[in-house]
Amino acid sequence: MKDNIIIFFGPPGAGKGTQSSFISSKFNLPHLSTGDMLRYACKKGDDFAKQLTKIMDSGELVSDEIIINVIKNRIAEKDCEKGFLLDGFPRTTTQSKALGQMLEKMNRKIRFVFNFHVEDLELKNRMKKRALEQIAKGEKPREDDTEITFENRLKVYRRQTAPVLEFYLKTSPNIVKDIDGTLSIKQVNEILEDIITANT
Ligand code: AMP
Repeated sequence: MKDNIIIFFGPPGAGKGTQSSFISSKFNLPHLSTGDMLRYACKKGDDFAKQLTKIMDSGELVSDEIIINVIKNRIAEKDCEKGFLLDGFPRTTTQSKALGQMLEKMNRKIRFVFNFHVEDLELKNRMKKRALEQIAKGEKPREDDTEITFENRLKVYRRQTAPVLEFYLKTSPNIVKDIDGTLSIKQVNEILEDIITANT
């Protein structure tokens, strides 16, 4: 079995979280969602948590330094030794370069960058649907799932995160696999499983 280090890349609402959790169960690989890790850190309620919450609620990115350290420590853990799924990281070229350096030191390589494509209008519709479903269930929607903040998250994605893809296309184009994120959840899942198993 190859070292399954896989990046789930794409705009907010493209299905990265849903698909990485399926792939995590199927291939028994840890799902490292930086958004989930940060939301967990926000629950602490101390000053640092308050600062994090403010940044996340505005749709901006937290500092590279913080998130790079979190990932560096996490991927050194035992459960990551056969691979891991990155969902929401790297989100800037600084983060992608830092990841490259960490992996080089560990003598490891990224196997795939799954690049999810979904149009902005569809992403906005999905966000609204998700927020309404949560309200219907009596849950509180994410603070960054409001229309204005979501719009900002898309802008931040285009400005700061999209260049990460350019970085991988330039440095290791063969690992980038384009995924049509508008297909059904099941179809996308089958495509991902096929890519992973075909190359195992
Ligand atoms: P997500 O759940 O991936 O949509 O992330 C929610 C929020 O967490 C983002 O809008 C950012 O504020 C923050 N965040 C998550 N991952 C990163 C990252 N790799 N770099 C910077 N900020 C991040």
